[in-house]
Amino acid sequence: MKAAERCFGGMKGREPGTKIGKPSKEDTVAQLPDGMKITWLGHATFIVQGPDGKRYLIDPFVDSNPACPGDLKDVGKLDAILVTHGHADHIADLVPIAKKTGAPVLCIVEIGAWLAGQGVDNVIAMNKGGSAQIAGITVHMTQAIHSGGINLGDEIIYGGEPSGLVLEFSNGFKLYHAGDTAVFGDMALIAKLLAPDWAMLPIGDFYTMGPRSAAEAIRLLGVKTVIPMHYGTFPVLSGTPEQLADEAADVSGLEIVAIGPGDSIG
Ligand SMILES: [Zn+2]
Repeated sequence: MKAAERCFGGMKGREPGTKIGKPSKEDTVAQLPDGMKITWLGHATFIVQGPDGKRYLIDPFVDSNPACPGDLKDVGKLDAILVTHGHADHIADLVPIAKKTGAPVLCIVEIGAWLAGQGVDNVIAMNKGGSAQIAGITVHMTQAIHSGGINLGDEIIYGGEPSGLVLEFSNGFKLYHAGDTAVFGDMALIAKLLAPDWAMLPIGDFYTMGPRSAAEAIRLLGVKTVIPMHYGTFPVLSGTPEQLADEAADVSGLEIVAIGPGDSIG
């Protein structure tokens, strides 16, 4: 498996405060299981390919996502769309992509009810603490500390609470997308009950946790491979992977896989 185009790897044994060098292809990157692939469309939007080739779009913020490369604006065939919460920078393109692809949507119940009114009815509308099967994977909906209105257009309507999602694949691999969240102590429960292998964590600060809190999230979750997200899209999202690496320098064996928008791992 080839290394990601841009990554920070080989962080084992780093001393606290050590700076990361320029990311290079030669760095060691943790390996995804065979057949899996993760593509970052920028911000909190990812396409994850499962071991059987099925494709899952998380948080469809595509057309108006300033970080999303033009050649990825067409997301192609999808097997499911997974949604963490209703803010525009997570669902701006949910309705058109759901209608175009016909892919089922998994989201919290209030967003599901709103989607029905938008003419999208292939929806699994669930709630936190529960698990659901969708397109060959199990999705566990977890806590997230954030706000959750649907703010498309001028109006904000109630969109339920925000959530995180743990995707459990048929090969046993578990991927945690934290959604937008502050750090919270019950991330330890996510570790205990779901034991994610990799985590996608927001680090941009301002709307979510920044690098220092995200480092604490890494300790609570016990994960050794982290993809930082929700940073750099807008100037206010100022946290960086380098800052995260410094804050989490005490975590032995940690690998921060900081790919660029449009890049893939696997
Ligand atoms: Zn957001």
